Amino acid sequence: MDKEQLFNQVMWTHIVESFVNDLFKDEQTSKGIVVADIDNTLVEPCPEIIGIYKTKNGKTEWLTCHEYDTDPDLLDDNPDVQWDYSDFYDPEKARESILQGIPILGNLEIIDQYIQMGYDFAFLTARSNEDVIKEALEKFLKYRDETGELKHLKNIFKKGFSAAIGDDKYIQVFGDLNAAQKKGKVLEYLCDKYDRVIFIDDSPKNLKVAKELGLLNLEIIEAKRN
Ligand SMILES: [Mg+2]
Repeated sequence: MDKEQLFNQVMWTHIVESFVNDLFKDEQTSKGIVVADIDNTLVEPCPEIIGIYKTKNGKTEWLTCHEYDTDPDLLDDNPDVQWDYSDFYDPEKARESILQGIPILGNLEIIDQYIQMGYDFAFLTARSNEDVIKEALEKFLKYRDETGELKHLKNIFKKGFSAAIGDDKYIQVFGDLNAAQKKGKVLEYLCDKYDRVIFIDDSPKNLKVAKELGLLNLEIIEAKRN
């Protein structure tokens, strides 16, 4: 790398860091946070409501979120495939796909255990409509306390550290990074704020990028399926 490339990279990193600090403003933090992806981690989104359109060789097909996450063309970054995420830009579909989705109990139990240990909670999703999602998850998500009672997350839910990286404000900061790389940037930021970060996600691509960050205080958990 020559001097100019190095300078550009350092400058770019610095600019991103300061923008990220502006994006995530939040209250007091505890020592740990559990950060969960939404689709096929917290919830199986209602397939009648939301999905992804894939166009390859002039043919368009509709994929569920799980089919999308494990699609070979996505994993290989095939440049000849077009992805259409328009369902996710629709606030009504975004909300209802969560509220009418199926909770994934195996992952919610893991999150409960961390919350009982005093961890905060945030979501990290490739979706858009961050505010709509915050509202939907506030209704949808509850945790089981040590007595087994279901409770609302209230101040355990760190909305200020939660991110729907498909929103324009993230695109402006992270530019043309792919979703897995953007998630990596958010995780780096959270690992700086918290002693311990637990990241749960079902996407092989997101898990791979998170592992490659090599952050010592980041634990990565592959989401269970229903
Ligand atoms: Mg997912």
